Amino acid sequence: MARYVFITGGVVSSLGKGLAAAALGALLQTRGYKVRLRKLDPYLNVDPGTMSPYQHGEVYVTEDGAETDLDLGHYERFTGVPARGSDSVSSGRIYWTVITRERRGDYLGATVQVIPHVTNAIKEFIVNDAGDADIVICEIGGTVGDIEGLPFLEAIRQLGNELPRGHCAYIHVTLVPYIPSAGELKTKPTQHSVRELRAIGIQPDALLCRSDRPIPPEARRKIALQCSVREDAVIPAIDCDTIYEVPIRYHEAGLDDVLLEAFGIGDAPAPQLGTWEEIVERVKKPEGEVTVAIVGKYTGLIDAYKSLYEALTHGGIANRVRVNLEWIDAEAFAGEVPDDRLQGVNAVLVPGGFGERGAEGKIAAVTYAREKGLPFLGICFGMQLACIEVARNLAGLDGASSTEFGPCRHPVVGLLTEWEKEGELQRRRADDDLGGTMRLGAYPCLLAPGSLVHDIYGAREISERHRHRYEVNINYKPLLEEAGLRFSGMSPDGRLPEIIELPSHPWFVGVQFHPELKSRPFAPHPLFAAFIGAALEQSRLV
Ligand code: GLN
Repeated sequence: MARYVFITGGVVSSLGKGLAAAALGALLQTRGYKVRLRKLDPYLNVDPGTMSPYQHGEVYVTEDGAETDLDLGHYERFTGVPARGSDSVSSGRIYWTVITRERRGDYLGATVQVIPHVTNAIKEFIVNDAGDADIVICEIGGTVGDIEGLPFLEAIRQLGNELPRGHCAYIHVTLVPYIPSAGELKTKPTQHSVRELRAIGIQPDALLCRSDRPIPPEARRKIALQCSVREDAVIPAIDCDTIYEVPIRYHEAGLDDVLLEAFGIGDAPAPQLGTWEEIVERVKKPEGEVTVAIVGKYTGLIDAYKSLYEALTHGGIANRVRVNLEWIDAEAFAGEVPDDRLQGVNAVLVPGGFGERGAEGKIAAVTYAREKGLPFLGICFGMQLACIEVARNLAGLDGASSTEFGPCRHPVVGLLTEWEKEGELQRRRADDDLGGTMRLGAYPCLLAPGSLVHDIYGAREISERHRHRYEVNINYKPLLEEAGLRFSGMSPDGRLPEIIELPSHPWFVGVQFHPELKSRPFAPHPLFAAFIGAALEQSRLV
């Protein structure tokens, strides 16, 4: 039977609980355990699909097409275990389940209450479908003390008594802030946070104390005493230069040993940290650098492009270079890229996005990259806009656009209402709800022999994850081909353009899917490795 670790957070939000869960998962893997990671979010949205990436960070899409919290991206990147829709849940979904059951009469007329009905639904989610995992790591979103998080904390408290002994452990992530006027690290917020948790009935087995500097032994001792936690279980979690260092630092601080002890496991294999050491070495000691411009909309919040940011880092790891990113707000220009704006960059990337705002600026960036021979990668919306750019400027189709922005003369990108998934016809209507009506999750794609992408992937058939409503309009394929565009990746039925490239250009690729979702530090995605490789090549030319 699987063992369960629950990760809660206190003091402030944004402590990096997701990263902590992911890094712990990776560390346990290095000790030979199979892990599974899960996220429980207290908000009432049914899923994060309709939440603004500007508020909440990117929407991460799983193989099976679930729109989830970005923390599942951390989990996959650190552990390589593909997350499933059933690994993420919100209060909204839990209440939806409970209310649906109530409407169906499943509760046989009982009064439906938070305890036990809601807490039971939460517990079902936690223990359901753990597969062959030895250890399931469950992160509870939010901060201890939030009203909406209470049913989750109550559910994990109950599980502490219901799971067999040695099968449940609690880790609480807190902040130990440095107060400059006192010249000291302060333990009081941690004490209060743990008191809050214990009032709910949860006694943490370990504390992960986030701090920007080393925590002196006296402070650790004080925390241990006040929080009723063993001193060796007060784990300093100090800011690192790269997130990929975290599994190593946790091991040095003893987190894995404390946890295995809480589980009563005395004979765990020693950790094999070589892969992580190699990754950290490559990130910290690059042999060169390249600069990539990302022309997008949500450029104010890095979390809105979390996976992309990491995938580019992985591309750097593959090529042993540092990747500097220039985030450029597409709204700052339209029609033409001002001369100084993209000067000096080695490559241009137009990422995924929605809506007309900024679209003309992104198209202008495509023109710039195409004309200057700069390596270009267009992802999802970026690929659609690249097709529009080629249609307008190489195929002479004035008024080429996407129906996402309203009716147009040449709908080079349009709404797709029918497509196939695993042999079944999928349908949607133009006026469908926004939630969950996109082409989502993994789809196969066939690569054209001899194309650039065929060479990059080294395979004829690939599978990548999607999240979009619109598609490049197959009816324009002949005209775009005549203009020099190559459709180098197509859906197996030949109806959906999935990858385009420009053979006359040094490196110009657009993909309808999101390759960034599948990149890992220990297995950089081939497209990102090749894109950064092309940027490096470009940097040598100038
Ligand atoms: N807005 C586009 C669509 O819905 C692209 C979406 C995206 O980039 N993820 O098709």
